[in-house]
Amino acid sequence: MASRFSYITPSQLISLQQRRNTKLAIVDVRDDERSYDAHIAGSLHYASCSFYERIPDLVRSLQGKDSVVFHCALSQVRGPACAKAFVDYLSQKKDDDDGIKEVMVLERGFQGWEASGRPVCHCTEILCKSESI
Ligand SMILES: [Zn+2]
Repeated sequence: MASRFSYITPSQLISLQQRRNTKLAIVDVRDDERSYDAHIAGSLHYASCSFYERIPDLVRSLQGKDSVVFHCALSQVRGPACAKAFVDYLSQKKDDDDGIKEVMVLERGFQGWEASGRPVCHCTEILCKSESI
């Protein structure tokens, strides 16, 4: 069970995704920006404004995953705050069979990801069906 979060760079994230044994989820906590901006392919959307009440739902949708990467636009405020809330939630939960071993925040957020030329998805689906990367 994760008790704190660490930071990850875009290139570290890509190599993590390419490792076959990593079951990784990317969680976008931007608010309205996601609807008019692109997003990282395959990322889940849990807006920061309603993040706290949706944590139990997020934990359910992360079943089978062992690593989670949070990000917002720049990963300076909302991303780390949501990652911390998520870690706190997991550590307070009575059963610790959630399987999450690692909680991370993507450095420089979506803007850093996009600026470094990483692939993004422009779909408007609520649940992005693109394969990660
Ligand atoms: Zn998409």
